[in-house]
Amino acid sequence: MTNPEVIPASEGLTACNTHNFSAGPGSLPECVLHQLSAELLEVSDQSLSLLGISHRSDWFAAVVSETEERLRRLLLLDADWHVLLLQGGSSLQFSMIPMNYLAKEASADYLKTGYWSRRSLQDPLLFGAVRLAWDGEPSGFTCLPSQADLDLDPEASYFHYISNETVEGLQFHSIPGLDGVPRFCDMSSDFLSRPVPVDRFDLIYAHAQKNIGPAGLTIVLIRQSQIERQLRQVPSMLDYRNHRNAHSIFNTPPTFAIYATLLVLRWLEGDVGGLEPMAARNERKADLVYGAIDTSHGFYRGFAVPENRSLMNVCFNLANESLEHTFLSEAASHGLLGLSGHRSIGGIRASLYNAVSEASCQQLAAFMAEFQARHPSTPTSADAP
Ligand code: PMP
Repeated sequence: MTNPEVIPASEGLTACNTHNFSAGPGSLPECVLHQLSAELLEVSDQSLSLLGISHRSDWFAAVVSETEERLRRLLLLDADWHVLLLQGGSSLQFSMIPMNYLAKEASADYLKTGYWSRRSLQDPLLFGAVRLAWDGEPSGFTCLPSQADLDLDPEASYFHYISNETVEGLQFHSIPGLDGVPRFCDMSSDFLSRPVPVDRFDLIYAHAQKNIGPAGLTIVLIRQSQIERQLRQVPSMLDYRNHRNAHSIFNTPPTFAIYATLLVLRWLEGDVGGLEPMAARNERKADLVYGAIDTSHGFYRGFAVPENRSLMNVCFNLANESLEHTFLSEAASHGLLGLSGHRSIGGIRASLYNAVSEASCQQLAAFMAEFQARHPSTPTSADAP
């Protein structure tokens, strides 16, 4: 692995291309930020600010349909799938799913694999029963189950899991669950970072603010069979059918977030070339940062076991935890921002979402090596208990 010299933040970086490793809202492609910045003042063929264009205009209807078409193309979604552009974040999906699909006398299978899936388990209890098909809490959420570890109910109303645990940096690299049970997945922090075999899923959701846009938009992909099986009357805003019937304009949608997402989708298809090249780029990026951990002889310690490491969120500690604050502040002074770990586990978290460049990851890896070289007396794996 060859690392370039670490450069000071002030050299050649503007505020919008400083290396942004934030866990979300996070980095967006610079070309998108530039276009948005100009269009905040005026969308040229509309002679209006982007923020002042009606959601009932032909212009916005075209934005919604192009967003949907691009998602369909990128993910190979056939006509059986509906694409819904919703609000309320992924947290609202934690509630809407059981509200619509979990009957009082029935139960759904859930995986508890980290901070966010633990959160996903609370609201279902208002509507029915939850079976934990696997619980990673006793092992500190440092690993994920294999299929053989799961206690699955073939009669479950649905099976819910999170493909990438954003806080702990754990990612499924295979698809858990039984193919006969509707499979629902929160892909908030790895959506569109790699191809997805959608035929294995029945409902997929992801908020925009990691890989695909600003906060405010949540994308729900849902099969016709699920729309049809809604089991109880729910408030109108929480009824997937209303959003499907209104083509995602049931009420005033987050117009800015949807348009920004469309620009990111154009970048992903046009500039990057789609999900295969995006996934290859994301693997190279993650290799750079995990490489810096793995060659540090224990100076840096990865949180997740290697086989379940996330390509999106690289979480680690310094063997000498008292140095973490210095690490973060020096990283910031080199323009490497957003690296603090989640408040629940601390440490360092480098989020390598789609718009984070390989150059940014090289800079981070180089900084890590250089920081280690300046702190040689810190314990290494040989000293570790
Ligand atoms: N699921 C995952 C995997 C997340 O990372 C988050 C937040 N980062 C959520 C759900 C909650 O999302 P929101 O804040 O959009 O409700």
